[in-house]
Amino acid sequence: MDPSYLIKPLLDETYPVIDYGKGVYLFDMDGNDYLDGSSGAITANIGHGTKEIIQAAAQQAEKVSFVYRSQFTSEAAEKLALKLAELAKGELNWSFFVNSGSEATETAMKIAIQYWQEQGVFTKTKILSRWISYHGITLGALSMSGHKGRRARFMPLLEDCPVLPPPYCYRCPYDEIEGSCQYSCAHELDLLIKRIGPEHIAAFIAEPIVGAAGAALTPPKDYYKIIKEICKKHGVLFIADEVMTGFGRTGKMFAAEHWDAAPDIVALGKGMGAGYTAIAAALVSDSVMEPILKGSKSIMSGHTLSANPQSCAVSLAVLDYLEKNDLVKQAEKKGIYLINLLRKLQISFPFIGDIRGKGLMIGLEFVQDPTKKTVFPREMLFTQRLISTAQKNGLLLYPAGAGEDGIHGDAIIIAPPLTITEPEMDDLGKRLEKTFQMMITDSSSTKEE
Ligand code: PMP
Repeated sequence: MDPSYLIKPLLDETYPVIDYGKGVYLFDMDGNDYLDGSSGAITANIGHGTKEIIQAAAQQAEKVSFVYRSQFTSEAAEKLALKLAELAKGELNWSFFVNSGSEATETAMKIAIQYWQEQGVFTKTKILSRWISYHGITLGALSMSGHKGRRARFMPLLEDCPVLPPPYCYRCPYDEIEGSCQYSCAHELDLLIKRIGPEHIAAFIAEPIVGAAGAALTPPKDYYKIIKEICKKHGVLFIADEVMTGFGRTGKMFAAEHWDAAPDIVALGKGMGAGYTAIAAALVSDSVMEPILKGSKSIMSGHTLSANPQSCAVSLAVLDYLEKNDLVKQAEKKGIYLINLLRKLQISFPFIGDIRGKGLMIGLEFVQDPTKKTVFPREMLFTQRLISTAQKNGLLLYPAGAGEDGIHGDAIIIAPPLTITEPEMDDLGKRLEKTFQMMITDSSSTKEE
């Protein structure tokens, strides 16, 4: 089968044509199997072909798939909003549904600005973010993203939001070391807000664990406590971008819980529909909604398909499945199993410089020399070659970090569906080991040429 009219991410690559998925495996039309070691783009959190979700989708479709949100609400949308309010800690009791992670972060950005406007503050329109971050591909979301590669072409259209150094412990921008960390990267936010002027800043946005741009950069214990205090002191809202980390991926329903970070607004996506539908949301706290409800009465945003009953019913079924199978709690244990397996591989393959993350969101950063932490030359295209070698070996991995944005070394994220079993993790380990072995053979044969 030749899908030659489809625009693919890289036009010179050929992509296998997928036939079907079952659990953590995908099967192409030629009969090859792939272990989905990255849940696609950290999305297929409950694996492929799950009967309960397919049934829930069919049942809703038989009733009604679409109603327009300014004419009707639906049982599915109401139930989903209620469920999210139950799952989210603290006063995050309001949901605004959208269809992608980018829409969710951009909506969060607008809600923060509207919150200040409703109180008569019209100067607070700036959002701050970190140098290494990814919040989405639309122009508002990209403005907030510290991702050079994805920003480059559109620079004239973008705001300059990324200002804060990232919590990048493996290559600490302040040369601090674990154990005696002074949290300079967090305290810098205080200086930045003072320099720019708190009267201009509506919110600070951060991924609790940095995904696409940072390969699971995981801040130390007190990081978000400091960030929250600084935001509170200056009257700046804190937005947690949980598009990648949400819905159990890191061993908690929302990753901000690891740090008790209590965000004012949360952006959700990916795992919310787990790949079975396009759905995302901004969760909003009571105190942010209060002036909005008193003022304009509604959030000044929305998309045609926002809160469509079809997607809401699917998302509800996904949340139900997570709960019934206790997948969030298991993600922590499974993550430890997988990290141990990766640490064993690190002994044989010292180019694995760093292993980091939480639960089943694990980042690997690769180095040429593990002592000096030197990066591979860019022209080696290490990450790109690793990803394609793995795919040939039937393993799907997610490219992250430097290979993409040029800030630091090559890196990937390993994030299989939360449903993965121990034998399947062993299978993942075997496919990865074979891939690493081939990377070594490949580079030595290149040298000989
Ligand atoms: N925020 C984060 C943290 C993400 O990881 C992503 C997607 N990688 C987005 C936002 C954008 O989501 P989408 O691709 O669904 O627009």
